Amino acid sequence: MSAVEGVLLGLYFTTGAIVGSFANVCIHRLPRGLSVVRPGSSCPSCGAPIAFFDNVPVVSWLLLRGRCRRCGASIPVRYVLVELLVAFLFLGAGFLYGPTFVAASAAFLAAASVILAATDLEARTLPDEVTLGTLVLGLVLAALRDRAAAVSDQGLVRFFAGSHLFEAVAGALAGALFLEGVRRVYKRLRGQEGMGEGDVKMLAMAGAFTGPAGVFLTLFFASLAGTVVAGGATLLRALHWSLEARRARASSSAALAVAARAGLLVADDGRVLSASARFREIPGAAADGMRLTADVPTAGRLLAFVRLAGTRVRRGEPAAHGRLALDDGADFFRVLAARAEATPAGLLVLLARVDVPFGVFLACGALVAFVAGRSAWDAIAGGLPWVPRLLP
Ligand SMILES: [Zn+2]
Repeated sequence: MSAVEGVLLGLYFTTGAIVGSFANVCIHRLPRGLSVVRPGSSCPSCGAPIAFFDNVPVVSWLLLRGRCRRCGASIPVRYVLVELLVAFLFLGAGFLYGPTFVAASAAFLAAASVILAATDLEARTLPDEVTLGTLVLGLVLAALRDRAAAVSDQGLVRFFAGSHLFEAVAGALAGALFLEGVRRVYKRLRGQEGMGEGDVKMLAMAGAFTGPAGVFLTLFFASLAGTVVAGGATLLRALHWSLEARRARASSSAALAVAARAGLLVADDGRVLSASARFREIPGAAADGMRLTADVPTAGRLLAFVRLAGTRVRRGEPAAHGRLALDDGADFFRVLAARAEATPAGLLVLLARVDVPFGVFLACGALVAFVAGRSAWDAIAGGLPWVPRLLP
């Protein structure tokens, strides 16, 4: 690697860290309906504005040891992870595609994917500012690639055959129409929403970067990621829960500790003895010492499971549930898996989140489709006279 290439890659990494820092602002503010421009960054705990020298991506977090300079509140490690992730994705784009519009396309698709995966996971929303804004950016970058390749100077037929912009528009349309169709069919057959309009806009966005072929490869890789992640997570959870259950059976204090990190401990009289963040985040959920019989509509299914599990466990039968949907009708929605165990201190209910929203997998699928789509296309349909040009 030459010195020039080294400097270039360093620039990609630095730019990625700065974009990652802005991504954090988007992830925090867009789902809350706040402006990403004004006001400047401030501490979510004490509201103090963050000086520019405390706002250097990654470096500031390390220097301040993850705490606010004024109030000392801890800054979640997620902020650094997002900055580093986007920085490394930009570095990867620079490494794979050099100083080209292809690299810029890959980098911005990656940054948007990280933001969307995070907002979908945290707030179940895919903000239009990101999906539609990035879609437009994808079209602009495709037009720039046409200019760089001097496509517009060719005849009309060759223009449409070789135009990146034409393919980007077709990709956005294919993504929007296909997923909107799937959404409506699902709604008609099942009578409920299977996915949101945000997913439709997000696939249209991916289509603007990967073209019509890329849209279907995105869906394919997204389903693959979903299957692998769901299967792997189920396996890991079973293993983790078996270990935690064995620990909790050893003593009362061990059971309290296990419940504090992985679930809920309920005494025979229905009092909550110990609870993890997963339980506490449920709106209106009982705090320690409260009785679980309290009326908490959001946790209704979980409470019903706990009551039933208490009876079953006393009879020596296993008690587990794969999908308990908790929904307050507004912005809180979780699907939890639960398993109950008898311990010396009471009934231990292990809890884990199992609802990974589709946007997270679409984000993975779009990136894999961009990077590996051309090879996949050549393998599947290499004999066809049409070549997807957006896919490098
Ligand atoms: Zn503060």
